[in-house]
Amino acid sequence: MGQVVAQKRGGYHPITTIIRKTNQIFNDMGFRVASGPEIETEYYNFDALNIPAHHPSRDLWDTFWLKPENSGRLLRTHTSPVQIRFMEKNNPPLRVIAPGKVYRYEATDATHEAQFYQVEGLVVGEGITLANLKYTLEHFFSVYFGTNVDVRFRPSYFPFVEPGVEVDMSCFKCNSGDSDCSLCKSTGWIEIMGAGMVHPKVLENSSIDAETFTGFAFGAGIERLAMIKYGIPDVRLFHNGDLRFSKQFE
Ligand SMILES: [Zn+2]
Repeated sequence: MGQVVAQKRGGYHPITTIIRKTNQIFNDMGFRVASGPEIETEYYNFDALNIPAHHPSRDLWDTFWLKPENSGRLLRTHTSPVQIRFMEKNNPPLRVIAPGKVYRYEATDATHEAQFYQVEGLVVGEGITLANLKYTLEHFFSVYFGTNVDVRFRPSYFPFVEPGVEVDMSCFKCNSGDSDCSLCKSTGWIEIMGAGMVHPKVLENSSIDAETFTGFAFGAGIERLAMIKYGIPDVRLFHNGDLRFSKQFE
């Protein structure tokens, strides 16, 4: 009788921890958090985002389609449909992030999973520019990684932004490209996400006047953010259910 048994308390999965931390950092900058369905329509996942049927860019997103095949329903390949849904229901100025699970029909390896998490951000208002994007991301990365980091843009292509950019952040593990840094491969920069200025067509598809308003959008893989922060070598560790992995982050 009366034997005292120490209660084991559960802990959060590292993905949950990262999402909460990300939400908090963006909340502090005035962003709302939005969510949407994981089963999406072709319209929200592609067409509204300026990725028309038969356009070669649609092949960039390997897609799980739902049966029957002509249903136009799929497992969302990115969280961008949430941005469209949010813009349809809200008027500018908008500041929102959308974290959630997404799906790609592809083989898995150390850096690819068929399901993973993204966080996307969207800001729409008058006079929004790439400079606002740069400041926002520098602030996010600096708080997230706990040290001041710089951000640089390289030109890139995504159908829903114009111009589009690849975002690199300065390596926080080494002194601007030490010869033995495995994180940045001794370049001093880490590829971290894609971003750009929201394409006018995407604004208009959501009934936002592209003459008056501009916006920026960005999207990052949550697992990648975690792998870089904690030095995790294989993305499959997040989803294989091995408690020895999860418990390291309690
Ligand atoms: Zn480095």
